[in-house]
Amino acid sequence: MFEKGKRYLRKELHDKYGGNRQSGISKSRKYKIIMLFTSERGKEFGYEDGWKEGFFLYCGEGQSGDMEFVRGNKAIRDHQIEGYSLHLFKSVPEEKGFVEYIGQFVCVGYEIKEGYDREGKKRKAIIFKLMPYEEYIEFVDQGIQNNHEFSETSEDFKEMDFKKIRELAYGKANIDPEKRSTKREYIKRSKIIREYALKRAEGHCEYCGSEAPFYTKNLRPYLEVHHIYRLSDGGPDDPRWVIALCPNCHRRAHFSKDAEKVKEEMAKIVLEKELDLDNS
Ligand SMILES: [Zn+2]
Repeated sequence: MFEKGKRYLRKELHDKYGGNRQSGISKSRKYKIIMLFTSERGKEFGYEDGWKEGFFLYCGEGQSGDMEFVRGNKAIRDHQIEGYSLHLFKSVPEEKGFVEYIGQFVCVGYEIKEGYDREGKKRKAIIFKLMPYEEYIEFVDQGIQNNHEFSETSEDFKEMDFKKIRELAYGKANIDPEKRSTKREYIKRSKIIREYALKRAEGHCEYCGSEAPFYTKNLRPYLEVHHIYRLSDGGPDDPRWVIALCPNCHRRAHFSKDAEKVKEEMAKIVLEKELDLDNS
């Protein structure tokens, strides 16, 4: 759709895709895309957009008062569940009216930070954590190879008892909140969540109930972990939104005609399981 590094006249982007011509966060209903524009604007308020630990930190919108999850901020937070893709552009100071395409991103979370509004008053700002789409797919989308690789390298979780890993999956164990925001921690957490789903499944597909089709080289039942929702708001980080599936059901979740229905059923199964576990 857009080419990385290419400069676009912002006006033409809106002529073609619609969306608000002035906002930093511009949603095109017709194309189901959200265009994000970053500039130096945050600096004076005590925060600025930019790369940190492999994420692009993007400040939400709202000029005075606490930022809230409305309009553009809500659009970013919910982009995945609403089926919108995020595209980031930066302004090009030397060429007026032009923006340069940085790439497609996925919102994987956000932080609330103290900052200042336009009037210099203290307020809460939403800082979105955006991950480059390609990397997101690599880490979170359960490519079969990816999953397999993970199963082979998760020795440190293998001996861990279910209760302990459930605690970890829910983030109840001591995880340094500072560390949690780094990419390495994010990946580690994704692994914990996957591992948790595999343990919860006890060797059976959590959707159809059939036994794992085979054992891996290190003698673990082979199942694939699927993310039922890919939400920015807690999504990949939430044990209630992952399900361990047999390869057939996994393909069904992705490619079947009734994928939407399957998704709802999966969500229900997992929620019920988790409720049972809460009460056990
Ligand atoms: Zn199955």
